[in-house]
Amino acid sequence: MRSRPKGDKRMIIAARYLITGDGKTVLENQAVLTGADGKIQKIAPLTDITREYPKEEVKDYGDGTLLPGLCDMHVHLGYWYSQPDGFNYGSQLIMLYALQHAQAAFERGITSVRDMSSAHGVCKNLKLAAEKGFVTIPRITHTDTGICMTGGHAWEEVEQVDGPWEVRKEIRRQIRDGAEWVKVLTTHRTHTPELTQEELDAAVDECHRRGIKCGVHAGTNPGIQMCIDAGFDTIEHATFMTLDHAKQMAEKGIAWTPTIMAYTLLYDICKENMEKHAGAPAGDPVMQKEMKDYQYFEPAYKAYRDHFKEFYDTGVTVIAGTDMVMYQSPLLPLNRELKYMVEYGITPVQAIQTATSNPAKVLGVEEERGLVKEGLDADLLVVGGDLSKDITRLGDVKLVTLGGKRVFENGIRYVGTGNLTM
Ligand SMILES: [Zn+2]
Repeated sequence: MRSRPKGDKRMIIAARYLITGDGKTVLENQAVLTGADGKIQKIAPLTDITREYPKEEVKDYGDGTLLPGLCDMHVHLGYWYSQPDGFNYGSQLIMLYALQHAQAAFERGITSVRDMSSAHGVCKNLKLAAEKGFVTIPRITHTDTGICMTGGHAWEEVEQVDGPWEVRKEIRRQIRDGAEWVKVLTTHRTHTPELTQEELDAAVDECHRRGIKCGVHAGTNPGIQMCIDAGFDTIEHATFMTLDHAKQMAEKGIAWTPTIMAYTLLYDICKENMEKHAGAPAGDPVMQKEMKDYQYFEPAYKAYRDHFKEFYDTGVTVIAGTDMVMYQSPLLPLNRELKYMVEYGITPVQAIQTATSNPAKVLGVEEERGLVKEGLDADLLVVGGDLSKDITRLGDVKLVTLGGKRVFENGIRYVGTGNLTM
């Protein structure tokens, strides 16, 4: 047998069902051979592969489902701001916080993330550490910190800019410092848009002429329309979008990251807090805040519930993202985001596409990953049972591989360098 470098090993993974990630294809009784180069080498019935490669390790998951590793398109790995002991969070602790957040991805079946604003340098340094072999983390595509107007949404945590040239200058600074995407924020729970059309146009123009993409936080109107007109690549949340907005986005190739889970969780938290403080006097400041939040999050939750399917049906590219920034919120609960999509009317196989091939296309890496296809990266996920019929099977993660290397199996993460030789 030809010798291979230590640590590189082929693996044969078999399961009854295979969801390719294209939004429609489910194959049965196929197995995947991962190559020593970390790519998917062959897809064929198990007996054919074992005949050809009798010495390779076989992982047979019986009635399980094999699919591409998932991609969470809206994360904030270094979002420490909601921690109650924020005073403890210096740069070293923030890095460790971000690291545990990133590594939590594997047990959710997530192998790629797009970070949509973390503290300066966090994602860049995580990626450097991974390249050097210090840590094993999912693939990261990242922005720098977000950009808003002075006093705009999340101003305490992002860069504040005013006027088209400040917008351009900040984007130039971010690209210089390694940003791979740009994140802009322009609405915050009112109908008054924050950045002007001129500023939004400048942001998109500066990104596109430099060859990078940009996403924007916009939840209300007319902010959503302004962002469509500016031509952002992705609109985050678009909570109160209309059917006409969805059609325009489909036509212009603007992808939509609904983040249903985030708004549903905020709605639930709000409802619970209101019940907790039910006897409080009318002027109670805690109660007043809860009431104000409730007035936004209740219609937000309902907007997704009642309209997700009709927007999806316009053909707009939907990408799944979790956006968990609340204290003690679950880390990267992408399974729950997809579960809401299915509850609101699409099939599990369609929901899987929003977390596999759709993100790959939006990130421009569709030649490398996002599908179970020969020649693509062996970023794979196996869950128990028939996921094509039951989206909750995503909660039963059996195996996750990243570039053909096992990173999670049967409840154990393999993320230290000592475990890299399998
Ligand atoms: Zn966010």
